Amino acid sequence: MSYEGKMLEDFAMPTRKAVEQALLKTLFKHNGVIKEFATGEEIVSEIADEFSLNKNQRTAVLERIYHKENRIVKTPLWHRLLYRAADSLAKEKLVSKPTSTILLTNKKEWMLTENGFDESLKLLSIPQSQKEFLQTKSYEVQKIAKKLIETPRPENYNPFDKEKKVVKVTRESAIRIRGFRQAVIEAYDFKCAFCGLKINSLKDMSWGVEAAHIVPHSEKGKDDILNGLSLCRLHHWAFDAGWFAVENNFTIQVSSKVNSLSSEFGKMGDYDFIRIFSNKKMKMLLPKSKEIYPHQSAISWHRENKFYH
Ligand SMILES: [Zn+2]
Repeated sequence: MSYEGKMLEDFAMPTRKAVEQALLKTLFKHNGVIKEFATGEEIVSEIADEFSLNKNQRTAVLERIYHKENRIVKTPLWHRLLYRAADSLAKEKLVSKPTSTILLTNKKEWMLTENGFDESLKLLSIPQSQKEFLQTKSYEVQKIAKKLIETPRPENYNPFDKEKKVVKVTRESAIRIRGFRQAVIEAYDFKCAFCGLKINSLKDMSWGVEAAHIVPHSEKGKDDILNGLSLCRLHHWAFDAGWFAVENNFTIQVSSKVNSLSSEFGKMGDYDFIRIFSNKKMKMLLPKSKEIYPHQSAISWHRENKFYH
C-alpha cells in the first residue's frame, strides 16, 4: 500500500467516492462554484464538517521528501483527499478545474459542468424539471454569459432570431436561456432596472429579479443581452403587459391608460408600482458599460408593438 493510502487508512478518512459526492452536493449549495482548496478556506472546513472529521483527521499531514532540493514538503491529508476527489470529478467531466474556470471568471474555482449539475440534482433528489428555475452556475452557462457580455455592440442590431424555435425546448436552448438570464441579471447588479429592488432567497440564494426579453421570446426575440432587461416580477409582468416602455434616452414611459384605472389598482399600501414612474422623468438603471445597454431597435420595437400609449 502507498504511503498516502496507509495514512488515509490510519486516520480512517472518508473514501474518495464519498468525498466526490459531498463535493457535488456542496457545489450545488454554493450555486455551482467553490474556491480552490487552500489552508484557512471556509470551504475546506465546511466539507470536513459534513463528515464530522475530528481534529486529528483535519490536521494530519503528508510528508514528501524532495530529494533533489533536499527538503520535505508537507501537505494536509484532508486537502490532498479533497483535491484528489475534485480532480477525479474533473476527469469525469463533472466539474471544471480551477485552471479552466479562471479563464471564465478570473478566479481559481471549481465549477459544476452541466453533467455535474445533473448529477448533484440526482444526489439531492431534486427533480430535473426544477433545473431551469435554479440559479446554479455551470461551466457551459457561464461561458455563454461571458460571450453575451463580451460580444462587441453591433451598429445595426436585429433583435429577432429567425432560426429560433419557440415551442420546442432542447437541452442546448435551455442552456442558452440560462446563459442569457445570468448575463442580464449580472449586468444590472441583480437589481430591477425600474424600481431598483435587489433581494435574494435565503434557501437557494436565487435572485428576486428576472431577465426579461424586450422583444419577447414568443416573437422570436434574441436571447441576447442587448434584448434583455433585469426586472422584478411585478415590473417584468407590467412591461410585458404593455404598461411600461423605455424611451431611446432610457426614460421610463408609463401608459396613459393608467389614468383610466381605478385608484386602488396597482397599489401596495402607499406604493404604486406603475404610477410612481408617471410624474417624473425617471431613467431606468443601466449596466456599467454602454456596450451592453439595451439596444434602440429592441426598445423601439417594444414601444411600437407592445406598449399601450
Ligand atoms: Zn421592479
